[in-house]
Amino acid sequence: MSQVVTRFAPSPTGYLHIGGARTALFSWAYAQNKGGKMLLRIEDTDRERSTGAAVTALIDGLKWLGLDWEGEPISQFSRAARHAEVAHELVKMGHAYYCYCSPQELEQMREEARAAGKPPRYNGYWRDRDASEAPADIKPVIRIKAPLEGEIVVRDHVQGEVVFKTENLDDFIILRSDGTPTYMHAVVVDDHDMGVTHIIRGDDHLTNAARQIIIYNAMGWTVPEMAHIPLIHGPDGAKLSKRHGALGVEAYRQMGYLPAALRNYLARLGWSHGDDEFFTTDQMVEWFSLEALNKGAARFDFAKLENINGHYIREADPGYLYEVMVDTAKEVGRDEDAKGLMANHNTVMAALPELQPRAKTVLELIDLAQFIYALRPIQPDEKAAALLTDEARVVLASVADTLGGLADWSVPSIDAAMRALAEEKGLKLGKLAQPLRAALTGRTVSPGIFEVMVLIGRDESLARLSDQTAP
Ligand code: GLU
Repeated sequence: MSQVVTRFAPSPTGYLHIGGARTALFSWAYAQNKGGKMLLRIEDTDRERSTGAAVTALIDGLKWLGLDWEGEPISQFSRAARHAEVAHELVKMGHAYYCYCSPQELEQMREEARAAGKPPRYNGYWRDRDASEAPADIKPVIRIKAPLEGEIVVRDHVQGEVVFKTENLDDFIILRSDGTPTYMHAVVVDDHDMGVTHIIRGDDHLTNAARQIIIYNAMGWTVPEMAHIPLIHGPDGAKLSKRHGALGVEAYRQMGYLPAALRNYLARLGWSHGDDEFFTTDQMVEWFSLEALNKGAARFDFAKLENINGHYIREADPGYLYEVMVDTAKEVGRDEDAKGLMANHNTVMAALPELQPRAKTVLELIDLAQFIYALRPIQPDEKAAALLTDEARVVLASVADTLGGLADWSVPSIDAAMRALAEEKGLKLGKLAQPLRAALTGRTVSPGIFEVMVLIGRDESLARLSDQTAP
């Protein structure tokens, strides 16, 4: 069999949204699995809605997700002459024709169809009419001759055989009167010319597939293999909305998701490998098949994504996480955090193994790291402030005394000293550790508090304590 060629064909009218990202991931994984390649085609023929910024965002989104394509991205618009050429060739072959209907005539046609209780369709008026009848003042469009009877069968790897009755497919336009191609036509010419063997895309394109097959057949071209994947729905089964997570991938980056986690999660949305929840990208590529794509709509679930992200954060290399934390802080405008992280590289690196199991997102990781570079006097958050009662401050004063006299500033030594002090005061260790955490970190959640003290060091620990206990 020839080399597998897939493509991702986004319209650059916005960001790379989560559904598009999944389509790209599947197209990429399939090509990788088969030792083939994925191409990137930017469907920018709609000049009013396509923007350069959106193209950049799409490319950034794909790169961030770690999906690569072969060669340069192909601009569909730049191929307009070729689309026109094929349309004219179809006319010459007798498979397409010029249609000179005015907008009024088309409207009248629709009215008549409606009155007859039929769907509003073009009625083939110019299909067999002689060009000599053409009105001089109308620039024609080119319409494809759709078969008048029988059916078009889309043989789909996900949907099975889907039959479309030709009576429902009219002679649609392939070239507009200004010489620009319609989307339906451009996609076919491009997929053919680019040697695409497998089209993987959302099932909102299934009826388009039937129309596109008419063009393939008219040109005598081989129809690529197709896999139309069910769209992503919200957890309630409704169409995915912004609230559900229908956002651009950059929004996920800004919320602190790791690309590997998003890949893993998106792969599970509409594809499965047994009950495996976690798999590496290499495993996904190795296991990927069109047959294992699910027929039912996938439901987007933030809680699952968080869970998977937490897993990837726990497993990640601290050096990598550190870079992601700094980049994320910068990207979301948390400049103080970015500065703090950069000024305390070694401490953050040392703290990360303690922080990783406690965070589900990179933003949470940054929150957890804040104690390292928080400026004195520490401003306790509400919960922490509630722990710093007068009574607790008295206890903290003795803690400060004990720690001040400690020769060895290590976790075991601090641990032993604190246990001894708790016993002496007849307190549970927690009664001592909780206000201590509140005083040193300003929070009620942090890594082990003795570890925190070692991380920030003796001087800083004692200074923070004295800020909270000094009269
Ligand atoms: N440009 C189309 C879209 O963004 C995809 C076309 C296709 O995959 O055939 O939905």
